[in-house]
Amino acid sequence: MSILITGGAGYIGSHTSVELLKAGYDIVIADNFSNSKPEVLNRIEELTGKKFKFYEIDILDRDSLNKVFLENSIEAVIHFAGLKSVGESVAMPISYYYNNITGSLILAEVMAKHDVKKIVFSSSATVYGMNNVSPLTEDLPLSTTNPYGSTKLMIEQIFQDIYVSDKDWSIALLRYFNPIGAHESGRIGEDPKGTPNNIMPYITQVAVGKRDKLSIFGDDYDTHDGTGVRDYIHVVDLAKGHLKAVEKIMGTKGIDAYNLGTGIGYSVLDLVKNFEEATGVKVPYVITKNRPGDIATCFSDPTKALKELGWKTEKTLKDMCKDSWRWQSNNKAGY
Ligand code: NAD
Ligand code: UDP
Repeated sequence: MSILITGGAGYIGSHTSVELLKAGYDIVIADNFSNSKPEVLNRIEELTGKKFKFYEIDILDRDSLNKVFLENSIEAVIHFAGLKSVGESVAMPISYYYNNITGSLILAEVMAKHDVKKIVFSSSATVYGMNNVSPLTEDLPLSTTNPYGSTKLMIEQIFQDIYVSDKDWSIALLRYFNPIGAHESGRIGEDPKGTPNNIMPYITQVAVGKRDKLSIFGDDYDTHDGTGVRDYIHVVDLAKGHLKAVEKIMGTKGIDAYNLGTGIGYSVLDLVKNFEEATGVKVPYVITKNRPGDIATCFSDPTKALKELGWKTEKTLKDMCKDSWRWQSNNKAGY
């Protein structure tokens, strides 16, 4: 029996694949490399000493996806495949709705056809919208401010409706906070195409000399130092959360959302300071204007994941900084 990992060549999917293989699971990865590179597969194998099946397919291609289920005994799916840039989603909403929502619909349809009804879905803290006050709990009202976030919220809703229609499903909706860091070997990590949208790859690219300086988006927020506060989570802790979610869906039926975060908020300036202390490398920055749509503060209440999945984060902000830096400095051009 295998776990199918859609988007397993990506940042979070590759780290989760390593943890699953290390824990003894058989996995099958499906990815179209739209935002990743084939080299990551060699690195996963190198880190784990294990072989796994890989399909270079687009999950929108129903026939190819069907073939994956015909050729393998799939027990459950972890569904990472999706487009993830907020800014790009505003510019290209049709691509985002099509790829993320249609992709999830086709996946759910093919799963149901093969009587595979266990899935872990990559959702996001973005579904908490602009108006909730942190720490955020799973039961708060949800809303979104951009097409990317809307795809996550709509897919959550689609899975809720699938469960209402068929109580044999077992579904975990994982709401990630801000994943950063890399595997501590420095062999796999985040490898964004073009200019990074997220803060940590931007910081590491400044530190490695690829970019001049970091722009900090605003210092007039209502936070302890005026810069935005987020719940940064080490990608390996996040990957381990998926193992716990898989264990849960194997043994139960139902649908549940879980926050995967540390429960601690750090500001952009805290992050820069921790990075400099952890690595000894300076990160020059300028304060620029606020990024439209950004909120002052966003951090999780991770109590539900602890109670129901038996999961909590272990790594510190300094671990995250050290590991991001090791990855970037050992792989200056990415994969
Ligand atoms: P990523 O872009 O590194 O990984 C996604 C992978 O999916 C890529 O390898 C890409 O090639 C693949 N993919 C995309 N569309 C596909 C398709 N139609 N068919 C097959 N493969 C396809 O992103 P990530 O950071 O690893 O994120 C994984 C998931 O987690 C995404 O769904 C993302 O929206 C969600 N998420 C990410 C973050 C974050 O900050 N990184 C936060 C919250 C949620
Ligand atoms: N940020 C920044 N400069 C950048 C990128 C991000 O100051 O180049 C800030 C952003 O305003 C937010 C935090 O860093 O307060 C995290 O942003 P990111 O895009 O990584 O994640 P988000 O929380 O927006 O999903």
